[in-house]
Amino acid sequence: MTTTDTPVTAATASSAPTASVDLTLRDISSGAASGSSCSTELLDAPWDVDARDPGYGPGASMADPIPAASPRQGEIPQEYRDASTEELDRRIRAAKAELGDRAVVLGHFYQRDEVIQYADYVGDSFQLATAAKARTDAEAIIFCGVHFMAETADLLSGPEQAVILPNLAAGCSMADMADIDQVEECWEQLMEVYGGEVPGDDGRLPVIPVTYMNSSADIKGFVGRHGGIVCTSSNASTVLEWAFERGQRVLFFPDQHLGRNTAKAMGISLDEMPMWNPRRPLGGNDEQALHDAKVVLWHGFCSVHKRFTTAQIDKARAEHPGVRVIVHPECPMPVVDAADEAGSTDYIRKAIEGATEPTTFAIGTEINLVQRLAAQHPQHTIFCLDPVVCPCSTMYRIHPGYLAWALESLLDGEVINQISVSQDVADPARLALERMLAAKPAPVGAAPERATSERTTSER
Ligand code: SF4
Repeated sequence: MTTTDTPVTAATASSAPTASVDLTLRDISSGAASGSSCSTELLDAPWDVDARDPGYGPGASMADPIPAASPRQGEIPQEYRDASTEELDRRIRAAKAELGDRAVVLGHFYQRDEVIQYADYVGDSFQLATAAKARTDAEAIIFCGVHFMAETADLLSGPEQAVILPNLAAGCSMADMADIDQVEECWEQLMEVYGGEVPGDDGRLPVIPVTYMNSSADIKGFVGRHGGIVCTSSNASTVLEWAFERGQRVLFFPDQHLGRNTAKAMGISLDEMPMWNPRRPLGGNDEQALHDAKVVLWHGFCSVHKRFTTAQIDKARAEHPGVRVIVHPECPMPVVDAADEAGSTDYIRKAIEGATEPTTFAIGTEINLVQRLAAQHPQHTIFCLDPVVCPCSTMYRIHPGYLAWALESLLDGEVINQISVSQDVADPARLALERMLAAKPAPVGAAPERATSERTTSER
């Protein structure tokens, strides 16, 4: 990963004709298009979903248990629930024009097109947090993504800037799988096994905690307090190299798949990667396994990327000879092994942009990004490996109605749904992020890596 993003015009992100997931779902439901979705409730208004029992909502994470303390979204004013698409469009554009540079709207790659069309910046979570940091003129940063992303933007933005999550129910099931109390308990047990945070004869600590960007600010703060570091899906191997210079082992959370895929590509054997199940003593391991470990993997996963299978890849290869299969490293290891390439959302986007000949791509990542890329690159055939339309449940909780509410509230002088990280958490969390920014890739040839990508931010 590079830390200096190369801005490109946002036209690449959203000006092309789109085949939005919302419209696809409606067409499937009406019979105008063939196909299937993972839930008919995806057609329901998000405020109807907000009013039900706590849960991640329809989509890939709908079967995941949600922590009791997860934020809930109260009712938004009736006028936003009643407004037509055309009225919301008019009001959002008018509010944005009146606010000008006072507000910046960020849209994650996995966000629905109906919201992305209003975004000033489009990118992955870290690119967007970096974009927010650069917009010091903006009083308000409206993050059309999920909760941990808004927290990261708050960590990196100025003290006078307010970060807004338009729907508080837009959490992330993977981030929720690493709860701070469970992580503290895990650390306590590991310290008993390893004899505390005492360097060995080689000067390295027994274990360094590494957290994926997709984790709460509490977890980033924990990592910062214990000499650890944050990683993204673009720089995970660089970060693991950094950690192994300082520690004999790594405790990696929350995504077991990114941890396993990255460590395996660095030559670490599966026997040296025990899984930590927070519901069992010693995570379900014996002491010897923890002593022999190189990477202790947390029992977390992304329910979007868990849906991809090797059978889907076999089918794509059988039906599309010569197909180029690219998957995200949050996919399970057999899927990453069976693909031609694995890389971050930005890697996938650039791989498609860089293809000079018409190519067939089968992509293993969230459907909103895949359909947008397909619409933007009609010279290629691009399809999602998963034939079932199943977006990220929590990203899908953001709807233009919430964006209109957030923008018009700002015009009225009110900041709604502000996400603030407390100072005691923010300081060590920033330290863990700064360590990531300072971590340098190993010299070429020193660490085999399956895929790498440069970072860019799509700006307009
Ligand atoms: S795609 Fe997965 S990791 Fe990303 S926000 Fe959705 S549930 Fe979380």
